[in-house]
Amino acid sequence: MMRKGGAAGMKTGRDDGEGSVVADKLRKEFDGLVAVDDLDLSIRKGTLYGMIGPNGSGKTTMIKMMVGRLKPTSGRARVLGEDVPLVERVADIGYMPQEMAIYTDLTVSENLQLFGGLYSMDPGSRAKREEALLSMVDLRERRDSLVSQLSGGMKHRVSLACSMIHDPEVLFLDEPTVGVDPELRIGFWQHFSDLKAGGKTVIITTHYMDEAVRCDVVGMMRQGRLIAEGKPKELMERTSTSNLEDAFMEYSRRDAA
Ligand code: ADP
Ligand code: MG
Repeated sequence: MMRKGGAAGMKTGRDDGEGSVVADKLRKEFDGLVAVDDLDLSIRKGTLYGMIGPNGSGKTTMIKMMVGRLKPTSGRARVLGEDVPLVERVADIGYMPQEMAIYTDLTVSENLQLFGGLYSMDPGSRAKREEALLSMVDLRERRDSLVSQLSGGMKHRVSLACSMIHDPEVLFLDEPTVGVDPELRIGFWQHFSDLKAGGKTVIITTHYMDEAVRCDVVGMMRQGRLIAEGKPKELMERTSTSNLEDAFMEYSRRDAA
């Protein structure tokens, strides 16, 4: 049945039986506006998946339904084999929302402790994890600062660290690199690659289309629909383009035709 690392070397393709994250005709309407339009997706374990699309294309709405923060109008999402909202596997997912969801009247370290506590981590492993994450987001020096006193980019990095404190199997990151300096951004992507190399599934949304070239699989969203999906190289080859932004423009043009 579930063989560890069974999908090694096969990072793309559809396999609904094993999909770590599956969307099945997932749909959300807001007062007649279709934000996510019958989306079908299957993301394998151990995949670094990037969903790109302009503002308003439905990325955040999709993620919120996948993590159980928003009820679909119809269709369903499945994560780790369980229908969302998760009960059994709820502690196996991590979610970094696009809007800030950390406590500004607590310090950086206190936020990490609080999130670790939510997942019933023992203090020893939480402390170890805290060290590693503070290094990753380059905030070791600010661990005792109140979050309210940090810059916007720093708050964003705290939020990212909090979403990962419990070392989840599946990580949903909604625009994790917004407001992050280019240099640190490279470190972030390295970390995301390391996570998936360790068998984790990471789903990232970004409107910086070109950084998604580091993903195994890229999905392109337009008006709530998936208009293209594949390895970055394939998407560029199929559109005779040399970057994902141009590839997106080409797929959009074809979609609108
Ligand atoms: P993205 O994350 O790609 O920028 P969103 O999922 O935030 O896109 O938004 C998709 C569409 O749904 C947009 O037109 C947005 O205005 C609309 N929308 C999102 N959330 C709500 C809401 N709570 N109420 C009404 N409309 C919403
Ligand atoms: Mg969004």
